[in-house]
Amino acid sequence: MRFGLVAHRLHRQRVDGALVRWARACEADIRTLGLGLHAVGGTYDALVGQQLLSGAASLVRLPSGVEGGVMRLASCIAGGLSPADELDGVIYFIDPVDPSSLYPETQALKRQCVIHGKPFISTAAGAMEWVAVELALAGKGDTGFAAATSRQTVALIAHDALKQRMVEFASTHFDLLSRFATRIGTGTTGGLLNDLAWSRGWPAGVPWVTRYLSGPMGGDAQIAELVLDRRCDKVIFFEDPHVARQHEADIQLLERAVCAATHDTTCFNSPATAERWAAASTIRG
Ligand code: PGA
Repeated sequence: MRFGLVAHRLHRQRVDGALVRWARACEADIRTLGLGLHAVGGTYDALVGQQLLSGAASLVRLPSGVEGGVMRLASCIAGGLSPADELDGVIYFIDPVDPSSLYPETQALKRQCVIHGKPFISTAAGAMEWVAVELALAGKGDTGFAAATSRQTVALIAHDALKQRMVEFASTHFDLLSRFATRIGTGTTGGLLNDLAWSRGWPAGVPWVTRYLSGPMGGDAQIAELVLDRRCDKVIFFEDPHVARQHEADIQLLERAVCAATHDTTCFNSPATAERWAAASTIRG
């Protein structure tokens, strides 16, 4: 398995930054997983300079951002120019006030991950959880993250083309999602999920999902505020990457709020990545 790796300055220069914390906490597990990392210039240099991740199966230096390193990652997620180029996902520790978080190549990289159902992991908490998920699926680990769900809040959001997919996901993993202390959602998605829950015997009149406004009317922004307040721990957002979205700014606002809560919040942007997490959680019962 090979991942792209990028960390904004904030996350690669500070000892409490996401790159340093993730690398220190997961070094042994990264070795166990045999994970190869393709790091963009400055991120690679920070790892080598701080003697981090020497146990990665391979640590490859890509060009720096100004030389097109992030642009190359987008191509490699899509499959690259030859099979040897292909990457399985990206860890991109985003600082939402770093201007490059808004560059087209950053957005294209995330979009290619969503299109190809590959992880785009943007937070320290997400990167730690991803390692735990892969270890569990490989039968090699048990970090107890499934147990934490009973204290957590999960947000469930789906764009129109993926609403049915969200209902199927919730139906398949109803028991897992019901273990969370609270479920929240945007207006229309939440309504569909409540109908599902009631059809499955959830007490009539008690919402399974606490609904906020519809996404385009401000629901994404409301959920972003909960994320910033550390009142939402996980965002499962089935994004439609194939249409122009009139509330693109709201969608990005929510994703940037998740990045601002890097040590506390995780986000899945596609059904494939959410399914992997759910499969690992189910193994751990
Ligand atoms: P909706 O919002 O569930 O109200 O359709 C989803 C979104 O953010 O587009």
